[in-house]
Amino acid sequence: MDKPIVIIGLVLLAFLVFLLLRELQAWYWKINERIKLQKETIELLRSIDIKLDNQAKSKNEENTFQITGKTVNDIYDKQKIVPWNCKHCHTLNTINESICEKCGKEKS
Ligand SMILES: [Zn+2]
Repeated sequence: MDKPIVIIGLVLLAFLVFLLLRELQAWYWKINERIKLQKETIELLRSIDIKLDNQAKSKNEENTFQITGKTVNDIYDKQKIVPWNCKHCHTLNTINESICEKCGKEKS
């Protein structure tokens, strides 16, 4: 028997078995279906993004919240705090205005 031919045949067989098992796994765990759904989701999100972008451009005005009538910038400005250094642990705090993020002591 020719050894190289047998080896090549075994490799091909192993490869075919691998492909079959892979397809079986993809079917069993619904992997192909999930990927299809994810692609659809991405497409939908893109179309929504484009539509919103076009709306914003056509309105050409600042986005306001319907209930409060505030603009996005109003709210963003309110949340901005001046960074400060803690006197106890010297941490630069950028989120909380009065209590240190690291040691929890009050700004004094
Ligand atoms: Zn501190």
